[in-house]
Amino acid sequence: MNKRVLVALGGNAILRHKERGTAEEQFENVRRTCKHLVRLIQDGYRLAITHGNGPQVGDILLKNERSMDALPSMPLDICVAQSQGMLGYMLQQSMQSEMKKAGINTPVVSLITQTIVDKNDIAFKNPSKPIGPFYSASEIGKLRKEVKWTIMEDSGRGFRRVVPSPKPKEVVERDAIKTLFESGVIVIAAGGGGVPVIIKDGGNLKGVVAVVDKDLGAQIFASIIEAQILLMLTDVSKVSLNYGEPNQVDLDVITITEARQYLQEGHFAPGSMGPKVEAAVKFLTSGGERVIITSLEMGRKALESKAGTTIMS
Ligand code: ADP
Ligand code: MG
Repeated sequence: MNKRVLVALGGNAILRHKERGTAEEQFENVRRTCKHLVRLIQDGYRLAITHGNGPQVGDILLKNERSMDALPSMPLDICVAQSQGMLGYMLQQSMQSEMKKAGINTPVVSLITQTIVDKNDIAFKNPSKPIGPFYSASEIGKLRKEVKWTIMEDSGRGFRRVVPSPKPKEVVERDAIKTLFESGVIVIAAGGGGVPVIIKDGGNLKGVVAVVDKDLGAQIFASIIEAQILLMLTDVSKVSLNYGEPNQVDLDVITITEARQYLQEGHFAPGSMGPKVEAAVKFLTSGGERVIITSLEMGRKALESKAGTTIMS
């Protein structure tokens, strides 16, 4: 039977932090990504796709805030939905083109997805998820006087605005995703971790000011389609201990026990590598076989256990 792989694409892999984020740049990155994904389909894997949205949703929010005098500003949950539409569109169209070139006729669709979070999640009081552009130390000095953002250093790459990132509990569109996947469709869902919503007292859903980490959302998506492999494609080719320090050690294969231990020891930054390893542990404890964390370019080799970091139970 063909292995089911949930591919989680990093938002930073679609918009690299040195790029301005033009439509052309992002489309080009997405096309390159899809070429790699189609090779995986040709290798015999059954794919479902999710993607991050950190850079994009931050940009959308900033645009809204900057044009507040002229037009009503949209809240963050709507910005997340917009980013799902934008990135879903680019991925869907690029997958269709690349599959057509490869002579594959499988239908592909992206789904606006909502993710239920707990309204009392402590994350609402401790923003940790970096979004939007990177700023230098001097730019941040100026910005702090103009805006009320929480700002944090992001893994040695610069300073960024951070927003609350509550833990996803469930995906609202679970049944739709399952039905589509089981009928053979390549589903793109839970983009940006899903639009974060809470359940109100009467049972209705309401969007909240937050961005769910896409890797934690990916774990729920993976459980819906009963994936054997969770493939997280990001902008580093391996997970490291002592990341960015002179004594950095890159990891090849680790067990779930080691992953838990390194997490506890604080090797993986919250808001970036932390949630990936956390998602890996959850995936493996709920029936998943193998987690791979690597770069887009190394994805295929990593599936053959020749690159990247593999986490196994
Ligand atoms: P994505 O958009 O793919 O989710 P993130 O920025 O959230 O990307 O996570 C990947 C980043 O995590 C890397 O670019 C790196 O800067 C950072 N990082 C933090 N800790 C580690 C670590 N221990 N090993 C490797 N990368 C790490
Ligand atoms: Mg991330």
